[in-house]
Amino acid sequence: MELKICHMYPDILNLYGDRGNVTCMEKRLQWRNIGVFIQRMPLGSKKSLAGFDLVFIGGGQDFEQQLLLDDLRQGRANEIKAAIEDGVTFLTVCGGFQLLGNYYKSAEGKRLDFVGAIDMYTEGAKTRLTGNYKFKCCPDSGGSVVVGFENHSGKTYLGSGISPLGTVLKGFGNNGTDGTEGVHYKNVFGTYSHGPVLPKNPEFCDYILKTALQRKYGTAELIPLDDSAELLAHDEMCRKLD
Ligand code: GLN
Repeated sequence: MELKICHMYPDILNLYGDRGNVTCMEKRLQWRNIGVFIQRMPLGSKKSLAGFDLVFIGGGQDFEQQLLLDDLRQGRANEIKAAIEDGVTFLTVCGGFQLLGNYYKSAEGKRLDFVGAIDMYTEGAKTRLTGNYKFKCCPDSGGSVVVGFENHSGKTYLGSGISPLGTVLKGFGNNGTDGTEGVHYKNVFGTYSHGPVLPKNPEFCDYILKTALQRKYGTAELIPLDDSAELLAHDEMCRKLD
């Protein structure tokens, strides 16, 4: 078995070590003797998204998000939408998750029309939603408790019928008011959690890997790993956020 992973916009959506999520997925596959191929796809790349099992998009500042617009309009947005509808697994973080929605309006009122793959929108605010936080994934996203770090001015609002990734236990999440965190649409997982989020949330990482394996091979058995170090970090943050 092998998973092909595409890391989109690693050159500009690269905040808070989000690329560590790709390394975490790579290692947790290799430790199980599952093949993994990783393709970085920077801004302007003409490589196709076709054939990938998993796509990762990290976070970025408002300025970097604007740089993407031409690239998205020149066909990448349609490719992303097609991949999502075809059931490709996506992990997207903060700005990378916002861009899958209909639009992002900055705190200064500048509107960026984005991919429109998921019915949601984001509006920037003067005050940033920042800090360590934790949330519980919904059952259809694995049900694990995730600890992470958020830093965004954008407040995201999900359209009717669009499921969140989880519910906030401590911190802000999508907008600091409706108690939702992230988004789960088909096999897309969107979160505000930087950090990178996956290393100290091994159950969440494995759920994402299993989603991609299930789609590709019809089965998703992952042998257990020794996650004692990861869970030490996870449980300590959980305690601090009680
Ligand atoms: N620029 C977006 C915001 O401030 C995304 C930030 C991020 O990716 N950390 O909400």
